[in-house]
Amino acid sequence: MPGLKIDLHTHSTASDGTTPPEVLVREAADAGLDVLALTDHDTTGGWERAAADLPDGLRLVRGAEISCSRNGISLHLLGYLFDPTHAALAERLDALRTSRISRAERMVDMLIADGVPVSWGQVRELADGTVGRPHIAQALVASGLVPTVADAFTRDWIGTHGRYWGAKLELDVLDAVRLVAEAGGVTVFAHPGAASRGRIVGEDVIADMAAAGLDGLEVDHPDHTPEMRARLGVLAAELGLLPTGSSDFHGANKTVRLGAHLTPEASYDELVARAKGVEVL
Ligand SMILES: [Zn+2]
Ligand SMILES: [Zn+2]
Repeated sequence: MPGLKIDLHTHSTASDGTTPPEVLVREAADAGLDVLALTDHDTTGGWERAAADLPDGLRLVRGAEISCSRNGISLHLLGYLFDPTHAALAERLDALRTSRISRAERMVDMLIADGVPVSWGQVRELADGTVGRPHIAQALVASGLVPTVADAFTRDWIGTHGRYWGAKLELDVLDAVRLVAEAGGVTVFAHPGAASRGRIVGEDVIADMAAAGLDGLEVDHPDHTPEMRARLGVLAAELGLLPTGSSDFHGANKTVRLGAHLTPEASYDELVARAKGVEVL
């Protein structure tokens, strides 16, 4: 019997995806998925809308992708099934969102100062939830300055450490692993080997995260090469981490499809068994 089709990492308009949460769950069901995790950046803002329109037969894992860093390197931590009312975690997520807004404003200010025809109002309008760089990128596309959103993510524009890039608040990843656990959730290190996105942390950091209570490692991700997947699979086994897979779907902002990569049922079952914050819907 074929296993469940499980995609544990997707974005909606609550952060930088282009698909509203209630449409995302429908598209997930249409794509033949059995389990979908909604993991918007630093927010649980899409949970309610996704839950309210959940199609029959689709299970929803509520989560978030949390902005973190270690040794000066940015990284993303997936938190699942945590209690969104846990005070300390809710406060940190709120601080991350606030920082995203002021950072985006700074970047828009830099563009305007250089005579680029974009405005804060325009960028704010493009964001349904948390403002992110993709919204600035969309404004640049609308102004005809770059052909696609991806073309804005370069050193000439708003790519990491690029000309119009600004830093944002990030949580120490070991603190974040512990905080999500305190809130009853489980954690998976998102795209640990996505070297194309910027610097990646060493395996020593992944070992430190495992020691801090990390539950899983996202092995199958669109930004991982086959070699990287193989290496991360070995590392997950060595460190006792659950291997997961996902599409990291962002709607029209990226070309990847829902369910492009999947999580093994055994990993999913174990993550759910460990979580005590909120239920799978
Ligand atoms: Zn990410
Ligand atoms: Zn993501």
